[in-house]
Amino acid sequence: MQQIPGAWQRTARGAGLLAPDGSSVPTIFAEMSALASATGALNLGQGFPDQDGPQEVMDAARRAIAEGVNQYAPGRGYPDLLAAIAEHQQRFYGIALDPAREVLVTVGATEALAATLLALVDSPDDEVVVFEPYYDSYAACVALSGARLVPVPLRWPDFQPDLERLASAVSDRTRVILVNDPHNPTGTVFSREVRDEIVRLAHLHDAVIVTDEVYEHLVFDGPHVPIATLPGAAERTLSISSAGKTFSLTGWKTGWVTGPGELVSAVLAVKQFLTYVGASPFQPAIAVGLRLPDGFFASVASDMAAKAALLGTGLRAAGFDVSTPGGSYFTVVDAAPLGATDADTFCRELPDRAGVVGIPLTAFVSPAHRDRYRTLVRFAACKRVEVLADAAERLATMTRP
Ligand code: PMP
Ligand code: GLN
Repeated sequence: MQQIPGAWQRTARGAGLLAPDGSSVPTIFAEMSALASATGALNLGQGFPDQDGPQEVMDAARRAIAEGVNQYAPGRGYPDLLAAIAEHQQRFYGIALDPAREVLVTVGATEALAATLLALVDSPDDEVVVFEPYYDSYAACVALSGARLVPVPLRWPDFQPDLERLASAVSDRTRVILVNDPHNPTGTVFSREVRDEIVRLAHLHDAVIVTDEVYEHLVFDGPHVPIATLPGAAERTLSISSAGKTFSLTGWKTGWVTGPGELVSAVLAVKQFLTYVGASPFQPAIAVGLRLPDGFFASVASDMAAKAALLGTGLRAAGFDVSTPGGSYFTVVDAAPLGATDADTFCRELPDRAGVVGIPLTAFVSPAHRDRYRTLVRFAACKRVEVLADAAERLATMTRP
């Protein structure tokens, strides 16, 4: 590939987003979904459901298009969606929000995370504490912001952090403690002690807590506990979520940030120059979704719990050591009992050996820490029961090297 002269690729290169030849490095999700398409393997890699979301939500989007909701939305989002998000936070968590000041609609949780990090950190002296393994966009956005990523390891098999390690990672340089709960890629739900410690440390070092709660309705032994509900947390917490997982509509890319007005305004200040606003007709439809009865949300969690249990049984039968998830789409296994010495190689060979795609956990860690997660693989349970059963059968009869 031809090298692009000049300085304008410097940030992307500095952030590790470009290969040495100047081509953009695809995300592990894009890469593994392409591998699944090319080989015809079952895709338990990228986390997207293979069934549509609720009919009434999809009908509402069609209606919105037909009724002319097709031009730019207001910067913060349509007032009715802002109100529906605030109602949702009140209904499920008892969090009271002023929809006009304390809620912002974004293009998925991805944009919410990017705008939040770009708003809150900017210098190599600023540190962002994350739990490792971490969702891939965290490291990319922290790198693009120019700040430093400080990872705190989660330990196989329960993936809770050591509280002393956590305490020693947070300092007066910490601007943000970024917490994904339930957690991707491990499926862990953080313990009460971990959440309390995060809040204590944020106070001690005057840090902002940013939560990524896209799996909030996929907690198997609920209810989900947002960090913003802990004593003293709300005043310094920005909570991020999205419609993608709750409504099985990952392609709609509609998310939101909630929290103190001044912090939300800072995120809006950046967001308006990233996307200006998100797609209009999805917004009234997501408002319909957020107002669905409690039974819908309960079934989202119980359906996924049943699928995770089915996947876990299949993975155990195939010979993997299996970590039991507390929520999310994901289950992590250790592939060492099946002879794996490197998860990346194992996952690249898996379509040929078993006709199944998984994601190596090493894709979610900093290069220096790969060894800790060397043989761990993530499988997604958000697929039809027949697909999970087929995958289990294929893995159980996998060819050995
Ligand atoms: N955070 C986590 C932990 C995720 O797993 C995902 C993937 N959906 C996102 C953020 C991005 O969400 P969205 O598709 O709403 O941008
Ligand atoms: N959140 C999804 C996952 O973890 C992937 C989203 C994406 O491809 N960026 O599988």
